[in-house]
Amino acid sequence: SQERKRKKAGPAKLTFEEIGGQDSAKQELREALDFMIHYDEIQKFGIRPIKGILLTGPPGTGKTLMAKAAAHYTNSVFVASSGSEFVEMYVGVGASRIRDLFKEARNRATKENKQNAIIFIDEIDVIGGKREGGQQREYDQTLNQLLTEMDGIYTSESPRILIIAATNRKEMLDSALLRPGRFDRHIQVDLPDKKGRMMILDIHAKNKPLHESVSLERVAEESYGFSGAQLESVMNEAAIYAMRASEAEIRQHHLSMAIDKVMLGEKTDRESTL
Ligand code: ATP
Repeated sequence: SQERKRKKAGPAKLTFEEIGGQDSAKQELREALDFMIHYDEIQKFGIRPIKGILLTGPPGTGKTLMAKAAAHYTNSVFVASSGSEFVEMYVGVGASRIRDLFKEARNRATKENKQNAIIFIDEIDVIGGKREGGQQREYDQTLNQLLTEMDGIYTSESPRILIIAATNRKEMLDSALLRPGRFDRHIQVDLPDKKGRMMILDIHAKNKPLHESVSLERVAEESYGFSGAQLESVMNEAAIYAMRASEAEIRQHHLSMAIDKVMLGEKTDRESTL
């Protein structure tokens, strides 16, 4: 499980520059994070510090990348988890995992001598879904524990803890999570527009040999509606096509084939779940 944790945390030093497009989401996030950085100033004004930020939007749009970049921007330790990790057969296990998560963040910050810690919870809807009378008691305990931990964050204490959660089903969340002092900042991370797609393609083309005639603008045009994760796949699949064809560089038609493949792949994925 140590290894799993390390893998999930990924490259430690991801910056906002490595996230393509998403200009307004990045800007909003940086503004919120400045509260954490300039803590003394906001305290002078009596402004309530931010404890939780909710990133919402479709899968594969870079929410996890944003959380990692946030940790880099604020010089925080980054502790990642996902809602599904807290779903257990036995009552109370989920709640105790939440406690451990906060403990881990505090311990690591102390050990690494950092003032800030960011806890990332992907798929928050799995534990924070709307509660319906008496059901799902095990989930209740887990959610209650998360709320207790959040309410117990004293922002004047070191390390300062910020929780960033992600969901693509915001409307499913229990209102208790969205109250002031909890996840009261919401940032929408949308599918990229054409310019955003170009920037994402550019990022993922960096370590690949592209033929000089390749137009990434054309690729961006042909990949309307694709997420960042899908665009990453397009670059990867195109490289595989080029290699299989024994070409030294990736050409336009490899990219077009890759777009078809990713589009088709998504379709068959969806069909097989129907
Ligand atoms: P999910 O909701 O499925 O967890 P997510 O929104 O958290 O998705 P990420 O895990 O951040 O998405 O993105 C998955 C991968 O897709 C990234 O590792 C990256 O390779 C690529 N990617 C997604 N968005 C971008 C982007 N804006 N810029 C560059 N790469 C991106």
